Amino acid sequence: MRIILSLITFITFSFSFDYKLEPIKINDNSYYFYGKKEYFSPTNGGNISNSAFIITNNSVILIDTGTTVEYTEQVKQAIKKITDKPIKYIINTHHHPDHFLGNNAFDKDVKIFATSYTHEEIKSHGDLYITNMAHLIKDASYTTRLRIPTELLDKKNMNFDGYELEFYYLNGHTKDDLVIVDKKTKTIYVSDLIFNERALATPHADFKKWIKSLEFVKNLDFKILLPGHGKVEYSIDVIDENIEYLKFIDELLTNSAIEGLDIFEIINDTEVPEKFKKYAMFEEEFERTIINHYPKYERKVKK
Ligand SMILES: [Zn+2]
Repeated sequence: MRIILSLITFITFSFSFDYKLEPIKINDNSYYFYGKKEYFSPTNGGNISNSAFIITNNSVILIDTGTTVEYTEQVKQAIKKITDKPIKYIINTHHHPDHFLGNNAFDKDVKIFATSYTHEEIKSHGDLYITNMAHLIKDASYTTRLRIPTELLDKKNMNFDGYELEFYYLNGHTKDDLVIVDKKTKTIYVSDLIFNERALATPHADFKKWIKSLEFVKNLDFKILLPGHGKVEYSIDVIDENIEYLKFIDELLTNSAIEGLDIFEIINDTEVPEKFKKYAMFEEEFERTIINHYPKYERKVKK
């Protein structure tokens, strides 16, 4: 009987996928979970982006909830080992599936913040993203259900249980990319406006707007920068390199359209600077970027 009972306990508390999450310290009261520099797969369970948490006087603020509810359940357990304060606030930085699909791991009393555009996109495309994830990562995604953000984020400053955060509503990676500034620790959480040593994902990008947003981020007063993908950074070099990459892509597409090149020629014959080629996911993202964005540049030239 005891064996059966312990077996039931084991089944109840085990997960079909073990994310092996280890919180990494960012500053005195904040940590992040590092996402692998890979594409969604059954082997990584969709753990491809960073999430972070800030501990306030009597609560925890979680920034982004990963790709699956199972991931976020394990995030909750990992946070419990660091603090017994409850997670009361969630912030979804933008509408990409690796940043909000874990929302449903929380009860109704947990407030989930997002901007109105991000809210609308999650509402309209959330279920489609879940179906897509079932194909891409299999088992780890099967318990994921859609949970739409509950609170509108539109203020410059917000106070979470006495803990002040500043918000900047930028764009370019998507139409609405959130940058969170913690003035107290001089930490900025820049979501997917920055990819560190990983090729930039661009399915909803506007390169010129993205560059403009990064020029803005460069002028923020910070010491620590947490990107959406790749490890934490301490200098503006990573911002400059992302700007350089975006300018490279924008100029490549513009010039190729003027010269009348086709997509195959761009993908196969472009001389890519070595430092970009070394990025994780370079080939996949470069190809995806050219295929997605080139037609727009061709149309512009034909006008
Ligand atoms: Zn994104």
